Amino acid sequence: MSGMVAMQVRVPGKALIRIERPLPEPDTGELLIEVAACGVCRTDLHVLDGEISARYPVIPGHEIVGRVAAIGPTVSGFTLGQRVGVPWLGHTCGTCPYCRTGRENLCDAPLFTGATRDGGYASHVVADAHYCFDLPERFSDVEAAPLLCAGLIGWRALRLAGAAPVIGLYGFGAAAHILAQVARHQRRTVYAFTKDGDKEGQDFARSLGCAWAGGSSDDPPQLVDAALIFAPVGELVPRALRAVRKGGRVICAGIYMSDIPSFPYADLWEERQIRSVANLTREDGTSFFELADSIDLHTVTQTFPLEDANEALQSVRTGKVKGAAVLVP
Ligand SMILES: [Zn+2]
Ligand SMILES: [Zn+2]
Repeated sequence: MSGMVAMQVRVPGKALIRIERPLPEPDTGELLIEVAACGVCRTDLHVLDGEISARYPVIPGHEIVGRVAAIGPTVSGFTLGQRVGVPWLGHTCGTCPYCRTGRENLCDAPLFTGATRDGGYASHVVADAHYCFDLPERFSDVEAAPLLCAGLIGWRALRLAGAAPVIGLYGFGAAAHILAQVARHQRRTVYAFTKDGDKEGQDFARSLGCAWAGGSSDDPPQLVDAALIFAPVGELVPRALRAVRKGGRVICAGIYMSDIPSFPYADLWEERQIRSVANLTREDGTSFFELADSIDLHTVTQTFPLEDANEALQSVRTGKVKGAAVLVP
């Protein structure tokens, strides 16, 4: 094999196109990985739409499961054929104030897979070996792919929610369907808020152990301790604030959101908090995969051939995918 294929975003706002190029050689510290599966994340839509900073042209995809096909100079601890996972955090500087204080997710000079370096909508990808994860064996390649962002950044969001015995999940897509299972394992009560009238989504949420599921305008059975927002919809922030009890938190888990409408200060009063979640640290990954390996967790996926990446993205955009969409080269 001397070449690779990929689906590339040339310019924001235009459909992905299929490209072929020679197989890259891994540079110092890098691995060449043959992609077995790559999850489709909502962030990929924001890359496609030009709503977040990315470097174009770019090959999207940051939920990559593959096998090591070549090992660059100075890399140790990897063998040819070994299965690895590549997440959104592709590189950090290691020297900025954030990196030095355990907050590499906020690094001043990061690289992000599928946004500022090429990602996994491809037959092959080159990744910095220090940011690749070992994945629990019990998940197949396709099942493991959504764990790399939907699961992992969801996990970071859940940790930021604190103890929170009752949590609300707004937007029941790839992330929430994993988080609901994790939260239930932690004996939390989980309420799912879908688009108004999305009965199918609400049934899906209840099938994964949510104690209540309704539309985002509906009142839950009781106020929640924390609300996690996965949908990129700013209107949900004031709505979620009204659904959390005193001292509760609203966690915005997405990289992009439409503007948040103004709301009365009384809705924030009584020490309610709003905060965002940015990226991940490698520690988030290690702790999450350890947990994922030890609990009864299943991902629900819908696979698409790599060449159908545009169709897969459209299905995520319109909320047609139950669970997570995964591309298979
Ligand atoms: Zn840094
Ligand atoms: Zn993502």
